[in-house]
Parts: sequence; structure tokens; C-alpha cells
Amino acid sequence: MDSSPLRRPPFAIRARILTPVTAGGTRYEHDGRLDVDAQGVITTAGPWHEHQEAPANGAVDIRPLVLLPGMVDLHVHLPQLPNAGVGAGLHLLDWLERYIFPLERDFDVAVAERLAPAAYRAFAAAGTTTAVLYGAVYEPSLDTAFAAAEAHGIRAILGKVMMDRGSYDHRLSPDQVLEVSLRQSADLCGRWHMRDRGRLRYAFTPRFAISCTADMLRESAALARSTGAYWQTHLAEDRAELREVARVHPEASDYVDVYDRAGGLGPRTILAHAIHLSEREVARLAETDTAIAHCPASNLFLSSGAMPLARYQAAGIRIGLGSDVSAGPELSIFANIRAGANTQSGLHVLADGRGPEPLGPLDWLRLATLGGARALGLDAEIGSLEAGKEADVIAVDPRLVAPVPGVDSGDPAEIMSRLAFRPHPDMVRAAWVRGRLLDGPPGLS
Ligand SMILES: [Zn+2]
Repeated sequence: MDSSPLRRPPFAIRARILTPVTAGGTRYEHDGRLDVDAQGVITTAGPWHEHQEAPANGAVDIRPLVLLPGMVDLHVHLPQLPNAGVGAGLHLLDWLERYIFPLERDFDVAVAERLAPAAYRAFAAAGTTTAVLYGAVYEPSLDTAFAAAEAHGIRAILGKVMMDRGSYDHRLSPDQVLEVSLRQSADLCGRWHMRDRGRLRYAFTPRFAISCTADMLRESAALARSTGAYWQTHLAEDRAELREVARVHPEASDYVDVYDRAGGLGPRTILAHAIHLSEREVARLAETDTAIAHCPASNLFLSSGAMPLARYQAAGIRIGLGSDVSAGPELSIFANIRAGANTQSGLHVLADGRGPEPLGPLDWLRLATLGGARALGLDAEIGSLEAGKEADVIAVDPRLVAPVPGVDSGDPAEIMSRLAFRPHPDMVRAAWVRGRLLDGPPGLS
């Protein structure tokens, strides 16, 4: 089929539509219509027969493809992408020293120019339309990464990694690192935060409590508050990490308290992992409306632990999914849904079936899209296919995940179950942000 009308809005698509609904529940249209206006905003997402008379310069029929909201990846490390899939069997702190710090040390402008555009195409090919990224410690490479995101069209939140303890960058003397890192981060935020009407945003990014002094945590959190940008870091991923955090931050009562004392908790904060938390810490995250990036494939890959998802959801914490590449081996959020579902099934088995029931496929779809958007405070703009939202959309081919050719389903939970448990590398045929087609996926024809 000729998909060229779908490169830029406005356009109309006839397809299956599967989406969580902001007010609750899921919408599935086996024969649906999606209209996107010239600004890239959805004007119609509903049954075809109710809207077939609407003028829309000829709807493009892509059935049996399914339109979903684009996936939101809340936690991923751009410089680490080349390492994805390597390092199984190591624990976090050894893995960082062996594989990651050497890789990030080389992430200069030349590497970023080569890697960033390829990474954004890979995100789009995996179905991810919003990515929340850590860069490396070098300011110029972040400008390169932002410029590549601006050109590609992906929705991206990026931050320069801040480390004033145990950094891999030895060009600055220890007494300079704090001041330089804060200034460079503030400058990057000034240049890029809210670029293209908020498609690009900045996140102040202290790596984690071991790599940062209390001063760095506090000053970076103050910058995030004063600029309205995000603040992102890692929390309670690994048992050896917990012991080291207690050693280097003896003033704090627990890990969450390290960030709390810094003023780092709040609605624009994204904490990755958050596996090993006390009841007090869970309650404090809920009380401060701090969001969690749940990274299940990473947590399995580095033997970090199994996040008690149901407990956090019951506490009312905003949660989305993160690939955490390259601690996570897979960029695909669909693959991370599978890892998360398997983890929760494992917890259920180990509790002799007395724990909470594992989530179903449509609950996972909601976490991966609207959940991530809510964690970012962007659920009024993205995260579902509903009139008035920006058209961050993917088209997936259910035929590629069929167990044998010809097997199909018109049931939304069954469709989502196969996309998560039998993901195919080419199943995402197209991805749009604000109705603009992204390079990366193979295409509709
Ligand atoms: Zn991470």
C-alpha cells in the first residue's frame, strides 16, 4: 500500500485500535479509525462505521495492523547501547567497573554523532516513542545527542550524568567536579529543555548515591526545581549497592532518605529500580508523589532482585517501565513486559499462590504507555489514543506473532499477550510522534 500520506499529518488511518483509556479500562476497535490533524493531534479514535463519512483526504487502510500508543521507556542509558546483551552473571558494581565505565568514558562527540541517530532509529523500531535517557558525563556529547533527537523526531528526555565521587572522568580535579558539573548541566537545560514545544526536555541526572556527594544531590535537585526540569537517578537496585550507600551516606536513615535529605523527591523525579525498600521508604515515595521506573529485564539480567510491583501499586506510586539498556539486554518495552510478567509470576509461585494475582496483558499495556506518561506528568498529552492527545502511535503486525500462519484473534488481551510473550523484531511496522513518521521501523508495505 502507499503509506506516503502517513509521513506527515494530517492523515486518517483505518486499522485495529488497542489503547488504554485515561478514565480507566481499555478500548479495542477491530475496525477502527484514527484521524490526526495538521498539528499532530488526534481528533478521532473510534469505530470506523461511526466516522467513515468524515473528510480526511482518504483514509489509508492498514488492517489487520493494530495501532497502539507508542511505548514509553522511562530509563535507558544512551552510551551503553553497544553493550546490550553482554555481562550476564555479574552483579551491578562489578558490571559497572568492567563494562560500563570504560564505554561511557569514550562517549565523546564523535561517538555520539555515530551512535545517537542509530539509537533513536532502534527505539522507533522497537515501538518506543518516548525515551528517558542518561548520557555520559561530557557536556558536548549531550548537545550532539539532543540535536540528533531533534532531527529524528522521537520524544526524548535527556540528562548529562553527574558524578563527583568515583567518576570515570579524571580530567577534572576532584575540587572542580561539583561546580563544573552543575554549571554544564544548567547550561544544557537552558539550551534544550522544552525545545520543540516540549518534545525535548531535560533531566538533571546524578548517577546514584554512591557516585555523588550530598552536595551534588542537593544542588542538582535545586536546579531541577528552579528550572521545572526532571531529576532522575537510581535507587535500591542491588544488595551490595545498599551496603555501600549506607557506608558513604551515614547521615541518612535509609536509601530513600539520602535523596529525601537532598530535596530530590517529588512529582518530577524518576527513580529507577527501587527494588529493596522498607515500608517506610515505600510510604515516603507515595507521600512525595515520586515516580518509579520499573526495569524488570535489567533486574533479572544482573540478578538484582524482583520488584514487588503490586505492593507499590497498592501504595499509589506512579510507575512506568524502563528497558535500562544495557543492564537490560533488550530495548523493546514489549520484551520488558514479558520479563516483568515472568518476574511477577515467579513471586506469585514463591509465595505459594498467596500473594497478589499477577497482572494481565492489558494491565501491562497500560503500565508501558499511560503509566509511563503519568510518571512523567505527560498523561494529558500522550500515553493513549484518545481525541485531544498528541499522536504518538505505533502500528504493529499481529501476523508476525501468530504461532502458526493464519491464527488470529479479535480479543484485545489475546492480541497484547502475543505481542508481549512472542515479540518479533519486525512486528512494529511504523511509529509516529505528533503524527510525524519516525525513521527506524521497516514500513507499512
Ligand atoms: Zn540505569
